[in-house]
Amino acid sequence: MDINNYQELLDKGYENIPDNVKKLSRFEIPKVQIRIEAKNTYIINFNKIINTLNRERKHFIVEFLKKVGTMGEMRGQHLFLKGVYKEQVLNRLIELYSKTYVLCKICNKPDTEIQREGKKKFLKCTACGAHEEIREK
Ligand SMILES: [Zn+2]
Repeated sequence: MDINNYQELLDKGYENIPDNVKKLSRFEIPKVQIRIEAKNTYIINFNKIINTLNRERKHFIVEFLKKVGTMGEMRGQHLFLKGVYKEQVLNRLIELYSKTYVLCKICNKPDTEIQREGKKKFLKCTACGAHEEIREK
């Protein structure tokens, strides 16, 4: 069996799982995988992380860089950060982002979207219907 077929088979299997079962699986953000090069840090599994968070790339990068307190940008598939950072520091800041912008404050599920109303931002939860203002820290 060729590896592509295998992946397809896995995808098909996943599609067949009812939606309500998928939602029960715990929300887990992949831990960062980094490469340090010339005193800079590259998050090499950035795509995986952003796909899990299911937020706009641009929004995440702007907010995340503010929290890290550095400059950075996408370089190919990797997120480049100026300076050297430890995995646990980056993981903690990604979790912080997810608490503010992804997880519902009421039911703690990630089935949310950001809605802008004037200057305010709300987190709208499609799981429980909550509509909570986002308090940016
Ligand atoms: Zn909710």
